[in-house]
Amino acid sequence: MNVARMVIGADLVDSDVHFDAVNPFTGETWATVAQATTADVDAAVAAARECFVSTWRKTPGVERARLMNALADAVEKDAARLADLETTDNGKIIRETTTQMHFTARNLRFFAGCADKIYGRTIPLDKPGMFDYTVREPYGVAALITPWNSPIAALANKLPAALAAGNTVVVKPSEHGSYTTCDFAKLALDVGFPPGVINVVNGDGAVGDYLTRHPGIDIISFTGGSGTGSRIAANAAIRTIPVTLELGGKSPNIIFDDANLDKAIPGAVAGIFAAAGQTCVAGSRLLVQQGVYDQVLTALGELAGRIKVGDPKNPATEMGPIANRPQYDRILALMEVGREQGATVVAGGGPASGGELNRGLFIEPTVFGHVTEDMRIAQEEIFGPVLSILPFTDEADAIRIANATEFGLVAGVWTQNISRAHRLIDSLDAGVVWVNTYRSNAAQAPFGGVKRSGYGRERGEDAIEEYTYVKNVMLDYSDLERDPFQVKI
Ligand code: NAD
Repeated sequence: MNVARMVIGADLVDSDVHFDAVNPFTGETWATVAQATTADVDAAVAAARECFVSTWRKTPGVERARLMNALADAVEKDAARLADLETTDNGKIIRETTTQMHFTARNLRFFAGCADKIYGRTIPLDKPGMFDYTVREPYGVAALITPWNSPIAALANKLPAALAAGNTVVVKPSEHGSYTTCDFAKLALDVGFPPGVINVVNGDGAVGDYLTRHPGIDIISFTGGSGTGSRIAANAAIRTIPVTLELGGKSPNIIFDDANLDKAIPGAVAGIFAAAGQTCVAGSRLLVQQGVYDQVLTALGELAGRIKVGDPKNPATEMGPIANRPQYDRILALMEVGREQGATVVAGGGPASGGELNRGLFIEPTVFGHVTEDMRIAQEEIFGPVLSILPFTDEADAIRIANATEFGLVAGVWTQNISRAHRLIDSLDAGVVWVNTYRSNAAQAPFGGVKRSGYGRERGEDAIEEYTYVKNVMLDYSDLERDPFQVKI
């Protein structure tokens, strides 16, 4: 049996206690994962601290960049194997996990490029003989906590910026998706990262809670559910350390009458059925203007029915299984609520079965029509292949409905009217707005949410700011003798 060992300093660490890694396509336990004790977490934090103080913060940016580029090379070389592992572990289709591995390498390279360009400023003062400048300093040891839906891709949104800025890290992957993260950290040791820069401890929320309360942690970056995010933010507040939160969403994907439907309808499919809807950016609320509502509803019902559901390792498969049993149960329960509250099932509506599907956690691509704003399926994150379609009358109505949830991660706008697009961009509560596209990402483009979708930004140069603080330096080069009893302003 494969064992996912933790990475603590230079050591691959096993444990007396293990939990199972279950393949959601076959239902089989394919690996076991070494579960961290509190002593393991202490050791990982200590290793990260020691390395930060003795080595990493003193390592020049060009050298950090060299190592990050070497890791990018290794990930690219190993992309097929890593993607296969990720798909085995969480059921995400192989073409998606393969793309994620290459995007991980891309992010590493982007931030490698930043590592020797983290500049401060020189600041002219209104005082003779004083020189003022700023430098950006790493915080120290960062706790990076990731969810199960995309363990490596989520890590790749955090780790490169943290390392480029000069922090060392302790990663805590999800108990439902730990294997690839352990493998990835081992790869980093293999390419020559100093032991202690990247440490991994495995376990559930209790391990995450212990880590985020640990006195050796200087900054937290979390991706996961909004409720967990609030608890982690509370832990960070008690210790007065910074935290960034990438949380859930109920993102509106808005189709206007004037949209190019040949693009917008596939965009709606990408928004909800890619990754079987298990993505924070899922466009799970499709807002459609009345003039094209029936046409869009019918088209999506047909397209949902044609999606190839099956073996996630088959390159032809378009939708794999749900990643784990608790999530599978939750999706089915919310679908039931949708029915009870009066939404119309246009496609799907239950577990997908037959042939190879019978072994795994499959759910039919589901479309609910005539959803009203007050329904739970219009308000709560389902995190599965379930689309709620809501009609709207005009621009003001679209904006009102789009903003009427507690979330604010991303939004999609489909229109050929450039002025309307800009008015929507100005009015939507979202950290990312996609116009005539959906689920588009780039290493250079910052990502993150507002409201209960969190705060802080990942990717792009903005991410460097999250992992550094500003140190101001004042230097007196005058010969002036200043009054010691008077503040120098
Ligand atoms: P989750 O919040 O249950 O768990 C996320 C991580 O937090 C796991 O590693 C878990 O072990 C850990 N954790 C749980 N309780 C903790 C605690 N009290 N203290 C510290 N750590 C704790 O989320 P999940 O079910 O793994 O992932 C799904 C959620 O993640 C969805 O809400 C989804 O929208 C969100 N997500 C957000 C993004 C984004 O970038 N915004 C990306 C992917 C997923």
